[in-house]
Amino acid sequence: MSLMGFLRGLWAAFLGMLEMLRGLWTTFRSMFEKPVTYQYPEVKRPVRERFKGRHVLKRYDNGLERCIGCALCAAACPADAIFVEAAENTDEERYSPGDRYASTYEINLLRCIFCGYCEDACPTEAIVLEHQYELSFTNRRDAIYTKELLIVPVPAGGKPTPQNVPVGMYNRAIPEMKDPA
Ligand code: SF4
Ligand code: SF4
Repeated sequence: MSLMGFLRGLWAAFLGMLEMLRGLWTTFRSMFEKPVTYQYPEVKRPVRERFKGRHVLKRYDNGLERCIGCALCAAACPADAIFVEAAENTDEERYSPGDRYASTYEINLLRCIFCGYCEDACPTEAIVLEHQYELSFTNRRDAIYTKELLIVPVPAGGKPTPQNVPVGMYNRAIPEMKDPA
């Protein structure tokens, strides 16, 4: 072996050793850092404010359902995950302030990609993706969330639906906007 070849080999070995020491230094340093592992499920990782998890169907403070069965959410859904069937409200049997309400509302969570387009399309802010991310199913049927599973409980001071309301009390499906601008 020539002297040049020997020196090149020595240099390569030195560089290799340097890389190994750098790696060991990284390992050594991390021994004193705060662990980033969460002891799930005892400790749950907080999510960002804009995180999109499991859907809920909201109510107004008086207990009426926000959903008016317009199916705009279903039309906006790129995964065809939402099925809405509407029925007519009457003042004796009123579910929502509008002419109609969702008699059937289903989301197939196996199809859903949690994009939030349904939330954006909803004119009454009825469907909202909240922060629940613990979703598991053991069969396909359980992945279809029905209205009964999605709708939030009646708020304190509100009444359950259907409500019997005075004739003509509600004539708008979409609430007045405080600041249309
Ligand atoms: S989050 Fe997206 S994919 Fe899921 S139901 Fe809504 S629109 Fe469809
Ligand atoms: S959730 Fe909103 S967009 Fe979907 S049917 Fe109900 S009111 Fe319409």
